[in-house]
Amino acid sequence: MHGKLHRLITQAVANRLKLPEPIVPFLCEGSEAPDRFADYETKMYVTRSGRVRTRKVRVKHHGTPFRVIKRTALKARHLLLKAEDAPARSEANWFNKLLKHTREDLQERGSYLAGRVLHYLQDNVIIGPSVDKLAHDKLERECANIDPASCIEKTKLKRLVCKKEVYKEIESVKTHNDPLEVMKRAIEHSYSVGSSIFSPSEAPPDLNKLGNEVYRNLKDKGKLILFYSAILLLVPIILLITTSSVILSFLTLLPSTILAAHGFVVARSRNINTVLRATQRMPRWIIYVCVGSFLTDIFLGGVGASICILLVILFYFLFLRSPAWKRIKDEIDWFKWVLQPTRDSI
Ligand SMILES: [Zn+2]
Repeated sequence: MHGKLHRLITQAVANRLKLPEPIVPFLCEGSEAPDRFADYETKMYVTRSGRVRTRKVRVKHHGTPFRVIKRTALKARHLLLKAEDAPARSEANWFNKLLKHTREDLQERGSYLAGRVLHYLQDNVIIGPSVDKLAHDKLERECANIDPASCIEKTKLKRLVCKKEVYKEIESVKTHNDPLEVMKRAIEHSYSVGSSIFSPSEAPPDLNKLGNEVYRNLKDKGKLILFYSAILLLVPIILLITTSSVILSFLTLLPSTILAAHGFVVARSRNINTVLRATQRMPRWIIYVCVGSFLTDIFLGGVGASICILLVILFYFLFLRSPAWKRIKDEIDWFKWVLQPTRDSI
């Protein structure tokens, strides 16, 4: 799609979403940008001599991998959430201004990234030139004659809220052959994903209630989590002292230390957002502990590190298996969570 068309579609969507005027130019700028300032990904490959090397590859348009679009959407949302806590430009000190950490700067960067997301979604509804150049060029020419501002009036639009819904929408994007259908789908996907990225920061009431349930459950188990975190620190240290390979022992020690640090934060912090975000990061470190311990056992022999595997699996089942957690675990970093008073504290 041509830059001008990306801008027109994004402008029409921004008008429909009633986005604040100051951020719209940045959103539109972002929707044109990927053709001039491409995104790159690092890919690994094996040379003829069997060496593993990495190279930077330009992210493909018209068939952009879903993971790139999701990652960019999440970054945009994070910047917009951060903007709410940052000082306004007029009140910020020189240091925040220097680091571009003012509310306006973060909103502008978040909107620009959201624009890039819309560009990829809009491109992905048209067949790529590398697949069929003739069909691609013909569709682009025909689409250029359709006015997005009037087409949006005839398009069924739906607002999304949760991150899960946004990811599902991104995965549902596919190519179309009819120019009007292409335009309608480009508008529809842009509107849906944009509506969630720019939606209010606070978690919807039903999710927030579950978030509070999880928070209180973790607080009730605070002492037990502290105890487990201390053991998670101790076992790999003992392993490090008693085994011959320092490097291999670190494979277990490093992730279990980070997991234990998250455990301490969850047990001690009184901030619901800090607690839920630390909990969200835990499963990743549990996997790293398991992989590290497994490798340590394979290369060093013995079953010392397996104790860590048992520990973290137990940790997982004790603290990260509630039905409420399952419902909200993928939504934690998409929202801000508000601590509600308990019945006892009213
Ligand atoms: Zn493009």
